Amino acid sequence: MSLSLPQHYHEILKGLGEDPEREGLLDTPKRAAKAMQYLCHGYSQSLPEIVNGALFASDNDEMVIVADIELYSLCEHHLLPFIGKAHVAYIPTGKVLGLSKIARIVDMFARRLQIQENLTREIADALQSVTQAAGVAVVIEAKHMCMMMRGVEKQNSTMHTSVMLGAFRDSSTTRQEFLQLIGRSK
Ligand SMILES: [Zn+2]
Repeated sequence: MSLSLPQHYHEILKGLGEDPEREGLLDTPKRAAKAMQYLCHGYSQSLPEIVNGALFASDNDEMVIVADIELYSLCEHHLLPFIGKAHVAYIPTGKVLGLSKIARIVDMFARRLQIQENLTREIADALQSVTQAAGVAVVIEAKHMCMMMRGVEKQNSTMHTSVMLGAFRDSSTTRQEFLQLIGRSK
């Protein structure tokens, strides 16, 4: 017989030496399970469902940038949060994507167990496949609770990852323009 998620949290509390029956913890397994399910809701989403036809014909072939997208994720190694910002850009080739969709694509992948490197790559590949862009760039900067609260306890280190596809990879001018616009270059 397999346990439900709240029952697992009940066991975790016992494993930590706590008394799951004490008043303050009575509803904790249920609440923790619900919170964790929310933090992982990206598993129940899919790219077609998120994009949902919000691709519009456009002659614009200039870089489109969405900077400072808030990002909350969980590291798959410790199940601890990493929190930061994503900066996303693409160069359209006839189709542009609704702006809020970019943030929702970031969220879909962030709300799964992740490592920052793969998260960056998954966002870039998804945007590329949806828009057929001439180039896609994704930069993520995030602070990892597994570094700040445990292990090396480095409070001020931020991890930076980037994936550059197409024109952003091939042209240093394009890449520089993007990095400048997100304030990551002199
Ligand atoms: Zn970790």
